[in-house]
Parts: sequence; structure tokens; C-alpha cells
Amino acid sequence: MNETVKKEKIVEVVINEKGTALDRTFDYILPAELALKASAGKMALVPFGKSNKKREAFIMSVKNDAQKDIVLKEAADIFEPAMPITYAQLKTCEFLREEYFCTYSDAFSCVLPKFARKKGKEQYKTTISLSGKYKTKEEYLSDIKSNARSQRLAIELLGKDFQDLNEFKRINNISGDTIKKLQEKNLITLNKNEFYETHYGKNNIEKQSANILSDEQRNVLDEYYNCDKDKFLLHGITGSGKTEVYLNMIQDAIDKGKQALYLLPEIALTAQTVGRIKERFGDCAVIHSRLSEGERYYQYKRIASGEAKVTLGARSALFYPYKDLGIIVLDECHEESYKSTSSPRYDSIEVAEFLSELYGAKLVLGSATPLIESYYYAVCGKYKLLKLPNRIFNRALPNINIIDMRQELKSGNRSVFSSILENCIQNALDKSEQAIFFLNRRGMYTYVFCRKCGYSERCPSCDVALTYHSDVKKLMCHYCGYEKDLETHCPECGSDKIRHMGTGTQKIESEIANKFPYARIIRMDKDTTTTKYAFDEITDNFKNHKADILIGTQMVVKGFDFPLVSVVGVVLADMALNMPDIYSSFRAFCLAYQAAGRCGREKGGGDVIIQTYSPDHYVIKHIKNYDYESFYNDEIKYRKKLSYPPFSQMYGFYFFDENEEKAKNTAYEFAQSLIEKIKDEQCRLIKIYRPAKPEVSYINSKYIFHVIVKTSAEKNIKNTMKIVYNNIIHKNNIIAYMQKNSGV
Ligand code: ADP
Ligand code: ZN
Ligand code: ZN
Repeated sequence: MNETVKKEKIVEVVINEKGTALDRTFDYILPAELALKASAGKMALVPFGKSNKKREAFIMSVKNDAQKDIVLKEAADIFEPAMPITYAQLKTCEFLREEYFCTYSDAFSCVLPKFARKKGKEQYKTTISLSGKYKTKEEYLSDIKSNARSQRLAIELLGKDFQDLNEFKRINNISGDTIKKLQEKNLITLNKNEFYETHYGKNNIEKQSANILSDEQRNVLDEYYNCDKDKFLLHGITGSGKTEVYLNMIQDAIDKGKQALYLLPEIALTAQTVGRIKERFGDCAVIHSRLSEGERYYQYKRIASGEAKVTLGARSALFYPYKDLGIIVLDECHEESYKSTSSPRYDSIEVAEFLSELYGAKLVLGSATPLIESYYYAVCGKYKLLKLPNRIFNRALPNINIIDMRQELKSGNRSVFSSILENCIQNALDKSEQAIFFLNRRGMYTYVFCRKCGYSERCPSCDVALTYHSDVKKLMCHYCGYEKDLETHCPECGSDKIRHMGTGTQKIESEIANKFPYARIIRMDKDTTTTKYAFDEITDNFKNHKADILIGTQMVVKGFDFPLVSVVGVVLADMALNMPDIYSSFRAFCLAYQAAGRCGREKGGGDVIIQTYSPDHYVIKHIKNYDYESFYNDEIKYRKKLSYPPFSQMYGFYFFDENEEKAKNTAYEFAQSLIEKIKDEQCRLIKIYRPAKPEVSYINSKYIFHVIVKTSAEKNIKNTMKIVYNNIIHKNNIIAYMQKNSGV
């Protein structure tokens, strides 16, 4: 070989700007002086387009051959991004784009915080928070004269979390003078160049030693250490000591010199859990969606340098620049909040699987009620199944009572409470114990059912609940668009007690207040917990017995420890059973199970009352004995019969426009093009549903139409769909997104 002929070095880059035409990689030649500097994760300045205007770009790879036989331009410069970008982060961007049909630009915005997506020196900011001098806002306010409106406003708006000072001043129109006065009174803290998570207390608390493991926990860990698989599903009932098991696994990874990532649903990232982790490991980085830019910056740096050994976080923690990840734990892995609700609409389990393969890290999913999909993969051997079937110290599980509301009606009780539920609550209140009322997760669906026999209207082909649309006075299936008139009499028993049931939550609340006039009631739902501060305040108040009854939506069933709760009432389990999508049974089971787990945390026992018009439904039958496996066995039959996930992938394509016709036509055009494109492959393994309105079909002044495509694992037409989808949104210039395997 001739030594003097040097191969040219080429960089493959993604331009750091939005635009459909930019949604691909471009190759540039590196002049000799840059060739040595280039590597994936650095950035480049490249001439682009006719004008050759210089643009910033991410280097995805450095290679020796160009993509095509075309004349390449030369890169103008190579530079370090403001913060390190890792190979894993770049690969994750590619994965997101590939898997969830998003653009590079969306993927980069999702994975990299703003401060890492630009050139230049590290930038520090000043951040502001309450000083921590007092516990309550009232105390803070008592230090300020009543006419100092601006100061009072600032205190009202501040929390324990740090936020950007300049932004805070600008948005709320607060002057530097006001800030100065608050600082003089020691009511606020300003931070420069340094970011603490004061909300969860400072780092480096005294370490606590590990618990002595139970035999079951020991066995599970032995199986874990001796298994040649890297992916695990830990199925353990509530209170079985799963957390203790994760902590041991995490310690093992740290002992091997690796980093650990412990994911929790956003809502479960309470001071309580963070405290528990910090007690064990002395320090951990905490990532959640309300971090200020400064805090995010601080944690990003600590994770990239390897200083943070343990990261505890919500789903976005997946995207941090770990040096060497040894384990990813996904606790409460069935939670819906693991699915992103903005583009790219990724599934954290899939991303975690991808990362575990990339890093060679262990992946541990854990839940008392894993997704049917996850359990199926464990049964099939993709994951190793680990089990903790008993509660720690064999504490009793609360008793689940199923109340047949049809009988209540028969005996003349028309209220939303069965007499048993009412008695239980009264008993608890008399004994100075607490109760939780659990309402359905969302109240906006209206389904039709018979109060006499429990019959509910479902789609004949999709077997999902139909919902009532008052504008057209029809029942509709949101998968296939099937429509039906409202019946006046029950098709099953002929009774005229057929009702539509929907937003009943306010009614239920006022009934509770009427029934128990002396009880102190607090409510926890989306409206009352818009800030993290409010959320913690409600849970603290309830924990400290400042209220007797907590009424809430799905939020209250998450992993809180409320030791005084001895009664949990699920007011109407049917609301969850009749959600208009294919996951409704699973969700109903999960919610009832998790709700029951809130009961008798300290002493064991307690009463769970589940009211229903369908006591024979398999969800209700198996929840009574906390029997996940039997539930799984019934549910998997239903999924198989209709080829729903895990026997297929369900892709939902959503099209948005201010003009209803345009949204509708685009959905039809998409479905039609797809049908034509896959003509050759068409078979029963692929189903393209008729375009339909999703349940929520009008958001932010835009109409929505969607198309659901069901493909089997063998007949995955992902690439075809992606091409057709991208063509249509580009051609029609329409807002759209794709979401996999989630409800409509
Ligand atoms: P899960 O995560 O499965 O719901 P936890 O890990 O929270 O269960 O354990 C339930 C309770 O039991 C916690 O209060 C925990 O501190 C305690 N616990 C767990 N394992 C042990 C152990 N080996 N020894 C003593 N207490 C334990
Ligand atoms: Zn009936
Ligand atoms: Zn249908």
C-alpha cells in the first residue's frame, strides 16, 4: 500500500436546526487540521445550502467513506459543545427517531438540554428559592408588611425549588429592589454557580446500613446474581420489600465501579423516596421534570463526570450522559407516566432496554402489577422472572370486599355509597383513623350501562367500551369508528335502568361531604396539585392527620405511606373497566390493586371496599384475592383472541388541524396511501382501522383525527408506515404524532 495516499476523513453530521429538509445526516470532508479533532459527540461548523451559510451541527460519526458519490463540502470548524455529549446519547437520538418516527431535531431536544446543544463556555446563572427559614407560606408572609405587594407576590410564587432569577423577575414583573429587600430579611436564597436540591435536603446525609434481608429477598438476589440474562422482571406484591432488593442490586453495581439509574414514575419521586435512597448511598442525583435549568445543569455535570454514582429520576433521567451505567431499575414499571406525552412519544421501558444493551447494563423492571406485555415477555423468557409473593414479615394484606351495586339498588339504596362502605368510613372516623376515596383516573368519558344487570355497551369487533357523544346522540367506538344509537332498554335484561355514566366526580365529592359533615376532607387531583409544592403539602397534611378523608384520582394510589389509613373505597370500579380502550381491564386491575396497597400500611389489615355493577368480571374476581397471575391468564386470552399487544403492535397516528376537514382528509389520505403501499403484504396480520375521532378530539382549537394500525411482530411494516407518514405530514403541512401501544 502506498503510504502517501491518505484516506480522507469524513464526518457525518446532523444540523442543529429544525426543518423537514434537514431531517437527515450530511457528510463533510475534514481538512487535515480538523481531522484529528473530530469525534462523535463533538460539534462542527459547516457550510450549508446555496449560500453556504455556516451552521452548527452534531457529529454523529467519523468515517472514511462518504454516503454517496457526490462532491462534498469541507467542514469549517470542529468544537466542543458547551457540555459533554456521549455516544450513548447520540445513539439514543437515532433510536428515538427510528422507533417513534420523530425528527432528529425532536430527538435532540428530547435527549439534550438546551445548555448542551450549543457552542461556548459553561454559563452560570443565578437562581432563587425560598430560604427555608420557615415551614409555611403564612410564616414567610408574616415578615412582610401587608402593603408590600410586590414582596408578598414574590413569596407567594416562590417554592423550595430553585428557579432562574432573571426569568422569575421578568415573567412576574418583580424588581431587583424587591429581591434585595427579601434577601435582607433572609426570606430567599440566591445561588450563583452552584445548585443544590434543597427541596430534598442537602447531600451527604449520614448513611444508614442495609436491612437484614428476608429469605425471599435473599433468594431473589441469588437468582439475580447467578443468572446469565441481563433483563429482569421483579414481580412482588406491595410491601414485599422490592425497594430493598433494588438497593442491593444498585450497591452491587456501584461496588463494580459503575453508575446506577433508578427510575420512578414522576409522581412517586417524593421527599420520602429520595430520603430513603440518600440514607443508603449518602448521595444521589435527582432528576425530575420540574428541575430548573440550573439544577439540571448541575446534575448533568455530576453525572457526566461520574461523580454521581446513583441517579434517581423520572423518565427523562434516561437521557443523561452516564459514563458507565451498570444497572437501570424501573420501579412501578406499569405506570403510564413512563410513556412520554410529547414528541417523541417514547416508552421508557423500550428506551431502557435499548440503553441496557448499549451499556451492557442490567435492566430490572419491578411492579406488583406489571404490564401484561412485560409479564408475557417474562413468561416467554425474554426477561428473567423474579418473584416476591409475600409481604415482608408476612404482614396481612387488607381484606378486599366486593360490593354488588345491583343488589344495593334492589334493596332501595340509590346513593353512590353502599351501606357497607358508609359503615366502614364511620368506624374509621370514630377510631380516629383515616380513609381514602378513590375515583376514576379521568372523568370525561361517558359510557352506557345497566344499573340492574351490569350490562355495558361494547364494540362488537374491537370489544372495547363504546362512549356516548351527546352532539350526535350516538355511541361510538374510538378504534374503528363503529356507531350505534342509544338504547332505551337494556339489550340484556330489558330493564329501563340503562344509564350513561360519566363525570360524576363532583357529585360524589359533595355526597361525601354531606354524609360526613364533621370529617376534614382534602382533595388531590390535577387541579389541586399543579405544583410540586402543593402536591407535597397535601400528602404531608394527610400524613400528619390534618385531614380525615382524602379524595383523589389515580394520584392517591401511588407509593405513599399513610400509616393511619384503614379504609380505602373504590367508588365505582366500572368507570375504569369501561374506559374506551383495550387496556381498560388492565388499568382497572392495577388501580384497584394499588389503591388497596394504600391501606393498613403500618399495622396490616384494614378494609378495601370495591363497588361495582359487574362483580363477575374477571378483573373484579381476581382482584379480590390479589391474584395477578390468574388475572394475567384471563387477560392474555382476550389480548390473543383479538391480537392486541403483546401479540401485535398498535400504532396510533394522530393528525391535528384548525380545519376539521383537513384533519379528517389527511387521516383518510394516510390510511389510503398505506393500504396502497402495502398491497403486496396485506394479510390478516395487518389491520388498518378506519380513520376516527379519538375520545378527546378537539384540543387547543385543533380538531384531531386518528388512524390506528395493528401489525403483528412478524409483519412489522414500520418502515413503510414511517415513509408514508412523513410524506403525508410534509405534503399536507400538518401537525401530527405517532404513539405506539397506548390507549386512544
Ligand atoms: P415494596 O417496594 O415491595 O412495596 P418496600 O421495599 O417498600 O416494599 O418494603 C415495605 C416495608 O418493609 C418498608 O417499610 C421497608 O423498609 C420494610 N422492609 C423491606 N425489607 C426489609 C427487611 N429485609 N427488613 C426489615 N424491613 C424491611
Ligand atoms: Zn340490564
Ligand atoms: Zn370498534
